[in-house]
Amino acid sequence: MTSERIDQAMEGPRDLTGDPGRWRYARVLRPILLFGASAHALFLLLFALLDVPVLVAFNTASILLYLLLTYLAPRVDPRWLVLTAMVEVLAHAWLATHYVGWVSGFHFYPLILIPLIAFLTRFTVVQRCLLILLTTALYSAMALAYTTAGPLVPLPDAVAPWLSAINAVSVSIGMSVFILFYAVAVQNADDLVRSSQERLKRLAATDPLTGLLNRRSMDAHLQRVVEGRGPATLLLGDVDNFKQINDVFGHDTGDRVLEAVGEALRQAAADRALVARWGGEEFLILVPDDDGTQADELAARIRRLVSQCRRDRHRPLTMSIGITSLRAGDTVARFANRADQALLAAKRAGRDRVITASSAGAAGT
Ligand code: GH3
Ligand code: MG
Ligand code: MG
Repeated sequence: MTSERIDQAMEGPRDLTGDPGRWRYARVLRPILLFGASAHALFLLLFALLDVPVLVAFNTASILLYLLLTYLAPRVDPRWLVLTAMVEVLAHAWLATHYVGWVSGFHFYPLILIPLIAFLTRFTVVQRCLLILLTTALYSAMALAYTTAGPLVPLPDAVAPWLSAINAVSVSIGMSVFILFYAVAVQNADDLVRSSQERLKRLAATDPLTGLLNRRSMDAHLQRVVEGRGPATLLLGDVDNFKQINDVFGHDTGDRVLEAVGEALRQAAADRALVARWGGEEFLILVPDDDGTQADELAARIRRLVSQCRRDRHRPLTMSIGITSLRAGDTVARFANRADQALLAAKRAGRDRVITASSAGAAGT
């Protein structure tokens, strides 16, 4: 499956909408619209019982409108859906307040629109501010017109406070659901950004083949150790005759051997040393807080574990290792170069051995 087809499968058929983003909006808007249709079905029942034919007719039309909008949700610009629903909510609140009075609590419903508009990123911030202002202005106008005016159809005394309370609770639940939904979405986005940043940081610091530190991040560790002037030892290991493995068994097998060597070094170092892939088949091991006393033992452990990464039964894998400890006046380049010289001396002396800079003649400088 190509990545484009995977995108298409995730986001819905593009040819219907020309805009895969609409499916994402539709997934959020559809339940809201269906909830709107169900709420209006309850209102319809209520107004039929209270015998208010205008509101029965309005709510019947509202149910049909919400069902139509649910169908259209992925097919039209979500801004039109929200604007249409907004007009319906305001008109219903106005008409219901006009007929059954302010005391019914139907005036609360336009307040639900505020978080809905605020979070609708399809509108610009200025457009959202204007829509919220408009909603607030209409709400205030409704308050001015109806808080004192008597209703056309007075509600029975036993019904009014209950209806007002139910409407207030419904509006409060509706607003809370919107806000919680977006709060969770923001939290998820935040977690995603954080984990992506950590992943990128990890990727930038590691060698992709072996998963060990890469040269760049080891350089930063070396810099810290050199600046700190604390004791530290370097072991520079190079797989012997590695080119032959590539030549005889192929590059892929060479890669598998490098992975195995990386794993062997990780095991050998445990959590006492930092291991990096320094070059092709060259590995640098930094032992902080060590004046060289741990190095011989670590080198022996490395050579034992590397020898188990056999390339064939008859010829175990070997590694030459150069060792040096940090000296006064060292820069990173001098420190690493001395390890390199010690490694070179080990290669010249016949490979498969460990040489420490102080005992390496030329390497000792
Ligand atoms: P020596 O004992 O002197 O170190 O000999 P060598 O063959 O190990 O060293 P040489 O420098 O001649 O060859 C190193 C080879 O490592 C050459 C290069 O193609 C191979 N190499 C470097 N990086 C990779 C890698 O990522 N994967 C594979 N498969 N081979 C690599
Ligand atoms: Mg080599
Ligand atoms: Mg090499």
